[in-house]
Amino acid sequence: MSRIGITGVAGFIGSHLAERLVAEGHEVVGVDCFAENYARELKERNLDSLAGEPRFALIEEEMGAPSAGRALQACEIVLHLAATPGVRTSDEEQLWRTNAEGTARLVELLEESDVRRLLLASSSSIYGSSPTPKCEVDQPQPGSMYARSKLAAEQICLRSSLNTVVLRYFTVYGERQRPDMAFAAFINAALDGEPAPFYGTGTQVRNFTYVADVVDATVLGMQHGRNRTVYNVAGSHTVQLATALDEIERCLGRSVPTRTLPPDPRDALSARADTRRARGELGWRANTGLAEGLRAQTDHALECREMGIRGDVGPEVDVV
Ligand code: NAD
Repeated sequence: MSRIGITGVAGFIGSHLAERLVAEGHEVVGVDCFAENYARELKERNLDSLAGEPRFALIEEEMGAPSAGRALQACEIVLHLAATPGVRTSDEEQLWRTNAEGTARLVELLEESDVRRLLLASSSSIYGSSPTPKCEVDQPQPGSMYARSKLAAEQICLRSSLNTVVLRYFTVYGERQRPDMAFAAFINAALDGEPAPFYGTGTQVRNFTYVADVVDATVLGMQHGRNRTVYNVAGSHTVQLATALDEIERCLGRSVPTRTLPPDPRDALSARADTRRARGELGWRANTGLAEGLRAQTDHALECREMGIRGDVGPEVDVV
């Protein structure tokens, strides 16, 4: 069993990952500064199941702060998920400060430690838009500041002296999805009767990836990833956004009100993955189909509503 540090532990993916690692018997040191990208209450709730868990410690700090740095330096493995996420995030300085400069500071701290592996959560957005599935060796074409800042984070990690693995996640969904992401916003819109923004005609295509599959890939990447290697992590089916919206309506048994907006140039029209490297080297493949994953996400949203909990809708809805 290892002591594993997770930055961004109170977030959507970080909290699922912490739950899995603690359940497998690892000791998890989680760092999160409760950034204001969405309600603090939702992030606190993400950690509910870990409250009182002796193998879990939360450090509420910026990842580069001395106390967080010392705690992460004492880990064997660090999974770096903290970021300012979202291609539609308009504060470009904030994106660069967190994702590029924050990663550089973290790497400096870890280079002075005995940490034996760093895993970075990167993003499919670094590829830009392409009608054909992207391989890890393809030339990145980042189309937004978010994508540029994540690509910079990759380069910082890969050029460091640390044993590094990079995972490029493709649009992740499931229980506790960030409220600014499209599926969460559609579900909230249906439950509230308030229209959600819908960019373009819904023909954007994605390999949507269910969060439990992303957790599997991250654990396998941490254990078996090759040093200085990038892996795509993506769902197995290519789906149009409009098809996903239909599926959400089927799961909820009601329509999703939407407000159509022009396509956003920062939004890739097509983000498709070639996942052969993750299959071959990590033994990973996505097991969850969209209908099954969306059923889990909508059931969870309905349970939350029954308990009087509602996910807040961010000001801007993000597909990536
Ligand atoms: P999230 O916003 O739910 O989680 C990120 C967490 O990082 C938040 O809890 C935030 O408070 C924390 N954080 C931000 N800045 C910090 C700092 N300076 N110090 C400490 N903590 C900080 O986002 P998420 O969707 O769970 O994304 C997790 C990671 O996965 C990010 O790196 C993101 O870029 C990447 N990713 C996500 C998706 C997706 O579809 N959700 C797709 C591709 C890549």
